[in-house]
Amino acid sequence: MESRREFLKKSSLGLGALAFPNIFIPNTEKKLHVALVGLGRYAGYMADGIMESKSCTVAGLVTGTPSKKEIWGKKYGVPSNNIYDYQNFDEIALNPDIDAVYIILPNALHKEFAIRAANAKKHVIVEKPMGISAKECLEIIAACEKNKVQLAVGYRLHFEPYNMEMMRLGQNKIYGKVNLVEASLGYKVNPDPNDWHYKKALSGGGPLQNLGVYCVQAARYITGEEPESVTAQFGPVTNPNFKEVEESITWQLHFASGTVATSSSTYNSGIDRLFASADNGNFELSPAISYGPFKGRSPAGEFNFPEINQQQTQMDELAKYILNEKPLPLHITGHEGLKDMRVIDAIYKAAASGRRERIVS
Ligand code: NAD
Repeated sequence: MESRREFLKKSSLGLGALAFPNIFIPNTEKKLHVALVGLGRYAGYMADGIMESKSCTVAGLVTGTPSKKEIWGKKYGVPSNNIYDYQNFDEIALNPDIDAVYIILPNALHKEFAIRAANAKKHVIVEKPMGISAKECLEIIAACEKNKVQLAVGYRLHFEPYNMEMMRLGQNKIYGKVNLVEASLGYKVNPDPNDWHYKKALSGGGPLQNLGVYCVQAARYITGEEPESVTAQFGPVTNPNFKEVEESITWQLHFASGTVATSSSTYNSGIDRLFASADNGNFELSPAISYGPFKGRSPAGEFNFPEINQQQTQMDELAKYILNEKPLPLHITGHEGLKDMRVIDAIYKAAASGRRERIVS
């Protein structure tokens, strides 16, 4: 039986397998200088995480709100010549003080800014969901490849010990083959009808885009398999704000091995849970996906891992690769984002058609 330590040492277990051993000595001379694009709620968490990190610093800010330039500039010590708006953002290409751009805008704006950042020859980190369709993900990947910059998706749970344990138990079949995964995430969204989450042109969709992407990720990283097809059902609309995007959605991912992963994502109730049923036992987390503290158990007992600052850890791990000019492991790059988005495209198609739809790979 492979231990957790051995699992972490493996550098390429494939999908979702975490492996961030010290395979090279970090470049401690320089920090990764990151510019944040979009100074909303999550950007605040990320900026604080970066300030806690050993290897990164908030070096630039990009915002459409003039008052934030001064407030955020002061708070994070960013000089005014490193602060941009959405119009003059491309001038970042001329700024040697910025290495990487982290896009934390509403989902449907990720593609435009990721491509502009890549064209400015800056490494790109983009929040989940990477884009709002597989086609958009392909365009972002192409722009980064053309400009020879690295591309990461903000998959913070790939660095989080409780989720890494779920990956290890599932992928290594510690309790035998995983036959069933349940992965669900929901919360009550901001009731303001003007919030971007209700507007398809900004969100690209409802909770499937924003929350379901974590459930798709979990199904893939617990099983270590790619789903082949999907069935899906939209839930009822109980809130009149949901005119353009779904309020709730449930789906079933079907894997070649016979494993099924069932998930719900919703904006009308709270749920945050991963559960895996394997031949010789079950393992689970709840809470599982939020910022912790997490709780989990397997037949071996309650999990007991350190609570980490997820944003800090994510950024320190990305910096190890980018600062040392090493390619990022595939499972945290745009290729992973693309795989998730292909599944999400198929889930929407299946919910609309009522049929089982194949996932294009
Ligand atoms: P938010 O509404 O708090 O912030 C969005 C920011 O974008 C705001 O500063 C807003 O001013 C700016 N913006 C620029 N153009 C806009 C436009 N046309 N309409 C609306 N806002 C515009 O949202 P958030 O919760 O910070 O989410 C931002 C991104 O981060 C989303 O892609 C979301 O999925 C992602 N996110 C990730 C996590 C995570 O845990 N990884 C958590 C929350 C959000």
